[in-house]
This record gives sequence, structure tokens and C-alpha cells, in this order.
Amino acid sequence: MSWEGINCRAVLTLRVAGWLWLNLELAKKPARCLEYIVVHELAHLLTRHHDDRFNALMDRRFPNWRLRRQALNAAPPRR
Ligand SMILES: [Zn+2]
Repeated sequence: MSWEGINCRAVLTLRVAGWLWLNLELAKKPARCLEYIVVHELAHLLTRHHDDRFNALMDRRFPNWRLRRQALNAAPPRR
């Protein structure tokens, strides 16, 4: 399962409790990818799915998000 599949389920916690939960496995990813992850999860406050609206929000708030996502998905986990 991708990090999105694992972590994006936590958005409900963000909506209800007001805190952002991140999967600990993400700590193994490069630090430069964490900004993308946080913006990604915050975008889910406005739209639940990875749809056109989500992409438009990301394009507006974090223009190079696709490059960061690519780097995140390509990065081997740190040991
Ligand atoms: Zn997501």
C-alpha cells in the first residue's frame, strides 16, 4: 500500500480532533518530502478524494507538488 493509502485515512482525525496524524513510516522518507505530505493532508480538509479539485488545490498552494510526490514515491526507505 502506498503512503497515501496509509496516511490519508487519518484525515478524519484531522477534521474531528484538529491534529494531523502522520504514519511513522514516513519518518524514513527524505525530509524534503515532508512539506509535500503536510500540504497534501491539509488539502484533504477541502476535498476528500484525489480528484481534479484536489489537484487544482495542490497546484495553487504547492506548484511543484508533483515533483515532490515523485521524489517521495521513488525514495527508498531510510534504514
Ligand atoms: Zn491523499
